[in-house]
Amino acid sequence: QPFDNRPGEIWFDGAFVPWNDAKVHVLTHALHYASAVFEGERAYGGRIFKMREHNQRLIDSGKLLGFDVPYTVEEIDRACEATLARQGFQDAYVRPIAWRGSEMMGVAAQNNTIHLAIAVWQWPSYFDPAERLKGIRIDMAEWRRPDPRTAPSKAKATGLYMICTLSKHAAERKGYADALMLDWRGQVAECTGANVFFVKDGALHTPTPDCFLDGITRRTVIGLAKARGIEVIERAIMPEELASFEQCFICGTAAEVTPVSEIADYRFSVGDITKTLMTDYADAVRPQQEAVAAA
Ligand code: PMP
Repeated sequence: QPFDNRPGEIWFDGAFVPWNDAKVHVLTHALHYASAVFEGERAYGGRIFKMREHNQRLIDSGKLLGFDVPYTVEEIDRACEATLARQGFQDAYVRPIAWRGSEMMGVAAQNNTIHLAIAVWQWPSYFDPAERLKGIRIDMAEWRRPDPRTAPSKAKATGLYMICTLSKHAAERKGYADALMLDWRGQVAECTGANVFFVKDGALHTPTPDCFLDGITRRTVIGLAKARGIEVIERAIMPEELASFEQCFICGTAAEVTPVSEIADYRFSVGDITKTLMTDYADAVRPQQEAVAAA
């Protein structure tokens, strides 16, 4: 089913509208100038995992783009829950998006209305489930994450995804599932919709998120690893070091914890630490496991 033709309803500026009627005008500022921020959240067993953190990040992302989302975080939480309930799913993906509207055209659009919409759909596994267990193959991207002086790197802003789509399309054309992007300095950064971790000598190594999204899943995984007594080292990682790592996985709300078997010419095994964290994450997101996830 195409995404603009489905049953159900979308929360749109405070009310539910039929899915197929949730439209914006072609002269919407966000479409022309990328003035939009969004979130990706997952519900498990009817409960949205770390919903408050996601919706707070949505508000913070808006501020980084110079606008106030016209709802409180409590109101956005309630709207997400209401949309999930309305769609009737237990396990689902939740996509809030806030954007500058269409009253003014041009780079400046100080007075445009800020809109908020929330859509919920079933999105079982971001990567092919069979491939996911043996590890996905990813390519090195040609595009790099920008210097934080060049773009508001901390915002989950649509404009920052132009580079992600270019990188992911190029990788898919070569038969890879995703692409690993370096940052402007040439350090390992992140994948096109997920953060990256490596395992070496029983410790986790992951890039310091100083110019890319510090994912909520990334922080959850760090907490789960520490709870297991696994050392977590956040540092600058150069691509030449990939040869020295034994395991690799990526993580994000949509990707969850997904093992990686190849990055371009480098090979990794799906080892114990990766498997343990996959299972721990799958347990943590279920409602009865709240205490573990908070650790
Ligand atoms: N990096 C990028 C570019 C992403 O799109 C995502 C997914 N939102 C992540 C990292 C992981 O973020 P999170 O764990 O908060 O979903």
